[in-house]
Amino acid sequence: AYPMVGIVGRPNVGKSTLFNKITGQRISIVEDQPGVTRDRIYYETEWMDKRFILVDTGGLEPDSEDEFFSKIKMQVEAALKTVDLILFVIDGKEGVSPVDEDIANMLRKSRKKVLLVLNKVDNFKEMPISYYDSMRLGFGEPIAISASNGLGIGDLLDEVIENI
Ligand code: GDP
Ligand code: MG
Repeated sequence: AYPMVGIVGRPNVGKSTLFNKITGQRISIVEDQPGVTRDRIYYETEWMDKRFILVDTGGLEPDSEDEFFSKIKMQVEAALKTVDLILFVIDGKEGVSPVDEDIANMLRKSRKKVLLVLNKVDNFKEMPISYYDSMRLGFGEPIAISASNGLGIGDLLDEVIENI
């Protein structure tokens, strides 16, 4: 089986945008996995001849305030069970939020390999404060990207294939 790479993060950080950007042109649908994982989307893709399955774990976003943490927790736990590498996406415009810190704690405890991805860095001339602030999450330097305009995606994928 190909390695599984899961995109994890709180709602609205750009997980699905990143998923679509990576899988967009040159992918094939693997399987829908009906029933078991309706809430997740799997695509088989490749970079530099290395194949992997990319998973958007954010299908089941919380829709009310009181289920917010439990839903996110469930999603992260489900992702941790299936994937080999985590892309932990945070929002470079909004910066590190308390929910990001909660997710970071869960990920750190899991001892899975994690790449910290700072999305919404729409130009690379100057890194936002969040770039430096995010290092306190404990996953080293973030990989800055703009999922919407494609900046940094190649570097991110280079890191992905080095870690699977
Ligand atoms: P998800 O909930 O984590 O799956 O996030 P989405 O992919 O649905 O994106 C949430 C919002 O952020 C949408 O309005 C996107 O257009 C926007 N967004 C995603 N990536 C970027 C980016 O790189 N730059 C900017 N400026 N907006 C982005
Ligand atoms: Mg989404």
